[in-house]
Amino acid sequence: MDTYRHKGLRKKLVDLLREKGITDERVLNAINAIPRHLFMDNAFVNFAYKDQAFPIGADQTISQPYTVAFQSQLLEIKQKEKVLEIGTGSGYQCCVLLELGAKVFSIERHRSLHQKSKVQLNNFGYFPKLFFGDGYKGLPAYAPFDKIIITAAAPYVPEELKKQLKIGGYIVIPLGEGEQQEMLRMNKIAENEFVTEQFGNFSFVPMLENKSFSS
Ligand code: SAH
Repeated sequence: MDTYRHKGLRKKLVDLLREKGITDERVLNAINAIPRHLFMDNAFVNFAYKDQAFPIGADQTISQPYTVAFQSQLLEIKQKEKVLEIGTGSGYQCCVLLELGAKVFSIERHRSLHQKSKVQLNNFGYFPKLFFGDGYKGLPAYAPFDKIIITAAAPYVPEELKKQLKIGGYIVIPLGEGEQQEMLRMNKIAENEFVTEQFGNFSFVPMLENKSFSS
């Protein structure tokens, strides 16, 4: 259920994100519209509108609202753009991208999270294309994408993802293996040629490679 209390807390969260420097009104509207508490377990409902990451099971987290807003803003989504997300997790970031008018393809390596987010998003009336698989491989069958967002800490920029991006498109990726990663936006200006901008430190769970899939 989405109550007046939740709506009020959400409005305050949006004000906080604005204070922290998020300026894209479309992103702020999306966050205002989406009941984040419904992406979390009941036990955490009281934390849903704090600007914090929270556990969603399988040792994973729903990203901090500021991080979701920041990455969404960097993507500069236009209506109907094809966006590939790596790390569906709770489905919350996916939902923000859908609200922004994107056609979303999202990959998750935990089967339980993949299934849960699918049910959740469908219940909300959203029907993104969700895949259980390895984000390092991307989705060659659906490429090329206008934008690619990685929502886990990547040790390097996966070659397949670079290939699957349209020329002119962006990859937004937190890069690094330590506790903190550097947020990068890479603009593909030609085949094999990228212009990279840096946007400071963020903290994500790792993007895992060569591990057998977990349930
Ligand atoms: N976007 C999510 C954030 C989830 S945290 C949200 O809004 O809730 C990052 C997610 O990336 C985790 O669910 C984790 O299981 C997933 N992940 C990690 N490595 C991955 C990989 N190689 N391929 C696909 N998903 C991966």
